[in-house]
Amino acid sequence: MVAVSYPYADEAPVSQSLFDRAQAVTPGGVNSPVRAFGAVGGTPRFMTHGSGPYLTDADGRDYVDLVCSWGPTILGHAHPQVLEAVRRAVERGTSFGTPGEDEVALAEEIVDRVGPVERVRLVSSGTEATMSAIRLARGFTGRAKVIKFAGCYHGHVDALLAAAGSGVATFGLPDTPGVTGAQAGETLVLPYNDLEAVAAAFAAHPDEIACVITEASPGNMGVVPPREGFNAGLRDLCRRHGALLVSDEVMTGFRVSRRGWYGIDGVEPDLMTFGKVMGGGFPAAAFGGRAEVMAQLAPEGPVYQAGTLSGNPVATAAGVTQLRLLDESAYEVLDQVSAQLQGLASEALTKEGVAHQVQVAGNMFSVFFTDRPVRDYQDARTQETHRYTAFFHAMLARGVYLPPSAFEAWFVSTAHDQRAVDRIAEALPAAARAAAEAQA
Ligand code: PLP
Repeated sequence: MVAVSYPYADEAPVSQSLFDRAQAVTPGGVNSPVRAFGAVGGTPRFMTHGSGPYLTDADGRDYVDLVCSWGPTILGHAHPQVLEAVRRAVERGTSFGTPGEDEVALAEEIVDRVGPVERVRLVSSGTEATMSAIRLARGFTGRAKVIKFAGCYHGHVDALLAAAGSGVATFGLPDTPGVTGAQAGETLVLPYNDLEAVAAAFAAHPDEIACVITEASPGNMGVVPPREGFNAGLRDLCRRHGALLVSDEVMTGFRVSRRGWYGIDGVEPDLMTFGKVMGGGFPAAAFGGRAEVMAQLAPEGPVYQAGTLSGNPVATAAGVTQLRLLDESAYEVLDQVSAQLQGLASEALTKEGVAHQVQVAGNMFSVFFTDRPVRDYQDARTQETHRYTAFFHAMLARGVYLPPSAFEAWFVSTAHDQRAVDRIAEALPAAARAAAEAQA
């Protein structure tokens, strides 16, 4: 291991040589685009291990991790009980392609916590969960159109990559080459937090809309919580027009409370999607909801859905162990740490005169470099991203790993103890100064 001191040097030679190798064999050198540091520049850090709130990179530097694998590692890295469950599962074999007890236990945990979920199907990623939920909503209603909101991300499902059009009830155009007009053409993209736009879309397309899909509380344009009554308004509109409400809790599920965002606002969707925390750091995700709707799914009903590794025994062992460890006291710890960090970040930025908004959803939060509250994607795009870039690199140099994009949530874990918080507190003044001095 290399001896290191703060601030870390800009260069990360071992990560850089791994990145060079990676770029020769993998598009952009990464297996998920944001990891390439494209939005902030510099060398993506190749991590070699994690322990509690820390990640260690290939150059031997450690970081307090505020990404937490984009949400899943809510108990910190390499939690001993999760590791033990995984070890025991692996020793029994890694995949059987048959039903197994831990999948039942994981499904029971989910059904037990989340009232609107009477039946649940396990899959391997959040993308699969939302893709399957949309198919099921279409199969159940016999309708084709889907409403989604600009700035909400539901994985890389073709129909859900539709861009925001200009204004209300605009048909989505393909946001990415490879998504055809036909795939995106049944998607209506509306501004987030705008119930009038949703009502207008239902009025313009009577009996055509299968479902409205929304992040329960969005974290993928940064944290932009629903306005008071927004989710309940969606619930009412869907009911009135015979459409299903699909609440995407891949990010918020089992993270912001024991019952996810549903535990905070109590709005009952028809279908819900989960991922991240429920997989304990493994590829496990789920969709579930009303028994009557879920009964349409094969083999009970005609809507096909399947997966070779669905309900994988190692992933479900990790997931069920992690969920069982997440009692009310764990969420109290997460809320406390999160509130402490929000306060520290805001204090440092205020001291340097940097305009910012700290937006919060349970223990998820993000810092927008703007002087106005962010209510939708359009607002989010007005932030001064060059300040985030400077802030990010100053934190990285002082051993704090933030999301490498201004449009992401910050995540904490129950392992973020005072020592980890102190490291962040020590890094913040210089990062706030860097943000203040940043030039567009
Ligand atoms: N839905 C939401 C709300 C997400 O945040 C994500 C991923 O970040 C997804 C769906 C897709 O999940 P996955 O990356 O596991 O496919």
